[in-house]
Amino acid sequence: MRKLKYERPVINKIQVGTSGKFGMQSRLQTIDNIDGVPVKETIEKYGSPVYVISEKTIRKTYKQAKRAFTTRYPKVQFAWSYKTNYLNAVCRIYHSEGSWAEVVSGFEYDKAISNGVSGKNILFNGPDKSRKDLEKAVENESYIHIDHFDELYLLLEIAETSRKKPKVAIRVNMDTGIHPRWDRFGFNYENGEAWNALNRIMISKKLDLVGIHSHIGTYIMVAGAYGVAASKLADLIVNIDKKYGHKIEYIDLGGGFASKNTLKGAYLPGSDTCPSFNDYAEAISNALINSKIDHDNLPTLFLETGRALIDDAGYILGTVIANKRLANGKRSTIIDIGVNMLFTSFWYEHNIAPAQLTSFQTEDTIIYGPLCMNIDIIRENIKFPLLSKGDHVVISRIGAYNMTQWMQFITLRPKILLVDTEGKTHIIRENETTSTITDLERMPQHLKN
Ligand SMILES: *Cc1c(COP(=O)(O)O)cnc(C)c1O
Repeated sequence: MRKLKYERPVINKIQVGTSGKFGMQSRLQTIDNIDGVPVKETIEKYGSPVYVISEKTIRKTYKQAKRAFTTRYPKVQFAWSYKTNYLNAVCRIYHSEGSWAEVVSGFEYDKAISNGVSGKNILFNGPDKSRKDLEKAVENESYIHIDHFDELYLLLEIAETSRKKPKVAIRVNMDTGIHPRWDRFGFNYENGEAWNALNRIMISKKLDLVGIHSHIGTYIMVAGAYGVAASKLADLIVNIDKKYGHKIEYIDLGGGFASKNTLKGAYLPGSDTCPSFNDYAEAISNALINSKIDHDNLPTLFLETGRALIDDAGYILGTVIANKRLANGKRSTIIDIGVNMLFTSFWYEHNIAPAQLTSFQTEDTIIYGPLCMNIDIIRENIKFPLLSKGDHVVISRIGAYNMTQWMQFITLRPKILLVDTEGKTHIIRENETTSTITDLERMPQHLKN
């Protein structure tokens, strides 16, 4: 018989009066497989830590989102936000579902083209588009979303010599009642700047004004904010039609829908409090259908949803390195997943689950990553069972932004796996090796030998 592990007795404060009828759940669910692929074997075969992406979850979530909008509004087109996760395999899953590409740099633009996306199906956002980027986008007939007047002037210059008339939209920022207000991108609605930009475009006659765009922020927990945004954009569309007799083809409400992750300091879990796709769709389509836009000319609704589509599909599997007591007696567990590969742990109370059966006894624990850096904390406080060195953990809902905002720091980045809809595992990005990093370095002559 295996000797049971000694667990020191602890006194847990009973939280009276918190949350629902059944109190807060403090027992952690074990996650020992991802779509049927066992965690332990995956780590043995591919190393620890390792990212895993579920193709099934990506497709399922995409279909849910699409259904929420297409059942409420006649013309809907999603464009995958590349910066949220631009692994080529991931992008191609979205493209195979019918999603276009939404990019914010020349690098992302080229990536979309190399993934087989037609230039005509690319929305080009962001404040930093070079002359070369813009010329390419004009040539490919992509939709260029103008961010500021300097970009507008540059485009007018390019239009002088280009064989093609640039297809443009402007990005509009506005007060939708939420904070912080992202007024650094695009043209402001309330102070008349957006209208000013639209007039200049129309009067120039050199650009083809096809759309109006906004992206009000990220992790927006109030669906109604999108209703406000849609109404204000609809207002611009109506006024352009009135003044110039010009029909706008599309209205783009950007991304920003919250995923089910829980923000730090939130009282209730995000899965209980965040609006659903249906809530967002209801707010947006109501605003558009009830606007003054002529119903025969309803614009296509573009959505650039990132986070809410991919977060649930991503996992990172790791291993316990050690346990130790801090000077104040608090238990800490060190795992091999650091903030360098889990950037979102700065904002979220990520769900960490043991990958094997554990004791029911839990204790307030701080979960550290392996880095030699004081801020390398994955969870500041979680009721966690005692795991042994070598035990595995699974952190879920990490599909958004981690595989693009990660940083190379102290350790090398691990493999990324995709579990396909048949449960088969594929490596979609290799782990880095020392040469991945050192190959880019150059040695000045005087330091050689
Ligand atoms: C980042 C970004 C998105 C995606 O935002 P999410 O919050 O991940 O949905 C969409 N559009 C633009 C312009 C962006 O910058």
